[in-house]
Amino acid sequence: MTKKLFIKTYGCQMNVYDSARMADVLAPLGFTEADTAESASVVVLNTCHVREKATEKLFSDLGRLRRVKAARQADGGAMVIAVAGCVAQAEGDEILARAPWVDIVIGPQTLHRLPALLAEVDRVAAAGRRRAVQDTEFPAEPKFDFLPESAQAPGVSAFLSVQEGCDRFCSFCVVPYTRGAEYSRPVADVVAEATRLVARGARELTLLGQNVNAYHGVGPDGAPWGLGRLARRLAEIPELVRIRYTTSHPRDVDEALIAAHRDVEQLMPFLHLPVQSGSDRILAAMNRRHDVGFYRRLVDRLRAARADLAVSSDFIVGYPGETDADFADTLRLIDAVGFAQAFAFKYSPRPGTPAARAANQVPEPVKQARLAALQERLHAQQTHFNRACVGRTLPVLFDKPGRRPGQAAGRSPYLQAVVVAAPTRIIGQIRDVRIASLNTNSLVGMLITEGDGMTDYDARVSA
Ligand code: SF4
Repeated sequence: MTKKLFIKTYGCQMNVYDSARMADVLAPLGFTEADTAESASVVVLNTCHVREKATEKLFSDLGRLRRVKAARQADGGAMVIAVAGCVAQAEGDEILARAPWVDIVIGPQTLHRLPALLAEVDRVAAAGRRRAVQDTEFPAEPKFDFLPESAQAPGVSAFLSVQEGCDRFCSFCVVPYTRGAEYSRPVADVVAEATRLVARGARELTLLGQNVNAYHGVGPDGAPWGLGRLARRLAEIPELVRIRYTTSHPRDVDEALIAAHRDVEQLMPFLHLPVQSGSDRILAAMNRRHDVGFYRRLVDRLRAARADLAVSSDFIVGYPGETDADFADTLRLIDAVGFAQAFAFKYSPRPGTPAARAANQVPEPVKQARLAALQERLHAQQTHFNRACVGRTLPVLFDKPGRRPGQAAGRSPYLQAVVVAAPTRIIGQIRDVRIASLNTNSLVGMLITEGDGMTDYDARVSA
């Protein structure tokens, strides 16, 4: 069978980035992308431990793959099944015990060793035996030193991982256990990868890290550089027109980063700044090391530096011990800050975290009711923010065709999806768009020219 690779990615943008890197390390071995698991010789499930029911979803997928693999073997073929990512890191032994048809368990910090693990599986199979291999170490050598340049051209908007791991130990979160201690890539490595991505067509880079603004990579001067300084350096790359970063911890926003939001035109006025709760009592129980007052003052400082900064956030409802009064505090914080968008989740215990052992878990119906109320409030704020854009002219970076023929789609500075009637040749360009209306998930607009008239194309399709 030809070497075909299928990767299913669960979860966050870090995992999307890691999946692309796994494809990169296997490309020199002759692996090309398969459309389905059924047509692949190697299937990788790149798991996420943050979302609810991650483990159940994984075992459900593994059950399906077991049947595919058995059918392949009955035909005299072979299939290698690998589980990667944070669930593999945290629950590797359980995976191999419950799903003995899995061949490889590999953690996020060792994905560069995937070719060696595949070779080991082949070697054992050639000897007529079968043995699963597991690599969930936190190696001394950073994986980035071993990752090859991607064979695939990046999109107009590309991810660039600059930081991994976390030292904050929020009491609900598995990241410090699954991704390990904070590590920041050296500035020179980040700049080199950014330059390559831009040379191959990327116009926007989103810098990724579990706690990206804890970035402290060693600079060319030998001193640690923060994220603000890194953003200034990246902004010097010609043709890099937009820089974003995610995800941030409020405690790690420093003056230099705030100043970068004021000074660096390419740094977009949109910041995902998770707060998790509006109750000081719950924030303390979460070990967030900031209170509501700190968060609000931080948002004020950021908005003083960049008046149009749109703020996004994450919320957890039903954290152990959360009372109605705590939840009301969260609603008050939402009203006070005004979020352009936000994500809300019901608390669900992650094995191995302090919060999972708390006795005062909130009953499921209470969590459900609070989640519905929170989402309604957040949705209203998002709609309000989007509606306020109608009639405005926004610079939109077009990155793909729209869903319908004759449309192009892109993003506003505030990360809103924007759709216009336009030829796809504008993909890769920033164009001014007059926002005309809202769809459920996007803004609808019209291209305008410098003279403020609609383009011929717009006039034709909108007549
Ligand atoms: S800062 Fe973020 S990644 Fe780190 S422990 Fe807290 S929630 Fe997890």
